[in-house]
Amino acid sequence: MRPDLILAGAGLANALIALALAEARPGTRILMLDRRPGPSEAHTWSFHDPDLRLSWHRRLSPAIRCRWQGQEVRFPDHARTLRAGYASLDGAGLAQLLAHTPGVTLRWDAGITALDATGATLGTERIEAPCVIDGRGAAPSRHLVTGFQKFVGIEFKMDAPHGVARPVIMDATVPQQDGYRFVYLLPFSPTRLLIEDTRYSDGAGLDEEALARAIADYAQGHGWSGHEVRRERGVLPIALAHDAAALWAEAQGGPVPVGMRAGLFHPVTGYSLPVAAQVADVVAAAGPTTTEVFAAVRAHALSRARDDRFLRLLNRMLFRGCPPGHRHRVLSRFYRLPEPLIERFYAGRLTRLDRLRIVTGKPPIPIRDALPCLREAPLLKESP
Ligand SMILES: Cc1cc2nc3c(=O)[nH]c(=O)nc-3n(C[C@H](O)[C@H](O)[C@H](O)COP(=O)(O)OP(=O)(O)OC[C@H]3O[C@@H](n4cnc5c(N)ncnc54)[C@H](O)[C@@H]3O)c2cc1C
Repeated sequence: MRPDLILAGAGLANALIALALAEARPGTRILMLDRRPGPSEAHTWSFHDPDLRLSWHRRLSPAIRCRWQGQEVRFPDHARTLRAGYASLDGAGLAQLLAHTPGVTLRWDAGITALDATGATLGTERIEAPCVIDGRGAAPSRHLVTGFQKFVGIEFKMDAPHGVARPVIMDATVPQQDGYRFVYLLPFSPTRLLIEDTRYSDGAGLDEEALARAIADYAQGHGWSGHEVRRERGVLPIALAHDAAALWAEAQGGPVPVGMRAGLFHPVTGYSLPVAAQVADVVAAAGPTTTEVFAAVRAHALSRARDDRFLRLLNRMLFRGCPPGHRHRVLSRFYRLPEPLIERFYAGRLTRLDRLRIVTGKPPIPIRDALPCLREAPLLKESP
């Protein structure tokens, strides 16, 4: 049967669109196509509780693997427990949720060879629909200049309780290497622990074995022993400069880009779950055709890109105005700010006053180093 909507890719952005649409327009026939053989094991998607509206907490709750009260940050000169809750979804949970969502058909092993505004081609098969959305993951664009957040995470089954009570979203007490380095800890159970070594770096190269060794050293340093049960890795873009209007002009006439490939992620953290939920709401409220959804998502993306100018400026200060070995000082200072401001920062809802608060007082970097970072246009001009 001809679908009403084709979602190319069954990753995070499209999964949230399917959930929102199935609820907003019951009866819509949604076809999701993904080239993978099944749900990704190599992924947990986490979020801070204040990132999402109540409707999304409710919708996602069956797919939540773990939920925590509070989270910690650790720096050489201070440590802090933040009150906001934190939660993680995984690929299997999300796929199960989709399997139980009326109207959604998910086809694995369905590699798309060509995609346009009216349909998808899979080798010799052609499927058409009035609306086509492209959520096939990150795609480089000359209209988006980035630094990189690179990480390897290993989930261990420990031989004895590890004693980590809540997520440690940044342990920056580790030796600084390859830019800003921190370790991220997610205690899934008293003996299950994800240890992730992360670097905010200028280059995209990921030396997985070196990071895995660093993780083993960290575990040993804490007296933990156990065996690896799962591994995840990533090189996420950290936006330094973005010409969203040009990116959307290039996409005009094609399927609607969403998710990482549309630059729809938090510029500083690289997280995309909160933005993906907002975009899913936009899609669910738009008309049923590619043209209508394209116009609605484009308008949302342009408005976000304008709002995110300040966050890209912070990134330029971090990556271009600050020697790699000093980057941790900027973050350490940031995590001394009031907690509601930090929550609004993650959720992408900073107020004018928040922005002022971040850059006033003792500036994060010396003024003479900050000045050349102010404009983003020169970076876009240099982009190949
Ligand atoms: C290991 C890891 C951990 C992360 N953790 C978090 C986190 O905790 N919180 C957070 O907010 N963000 C996190 N992110 C960042 C971001 O949210 C994810 O990258 C997110 O999955 C991006 O969503 P997306 O829908 O754009 O792409 P993806 O989720 O990557 O989905 C793209 C899908 O398209 C499919 N595909 C690609 N090409 C084709 C094709 N030709 N035919 C058919 N299917 C195709 C892929 O198989 C894939 O399933 C993480 C990223 C990684 C890599």
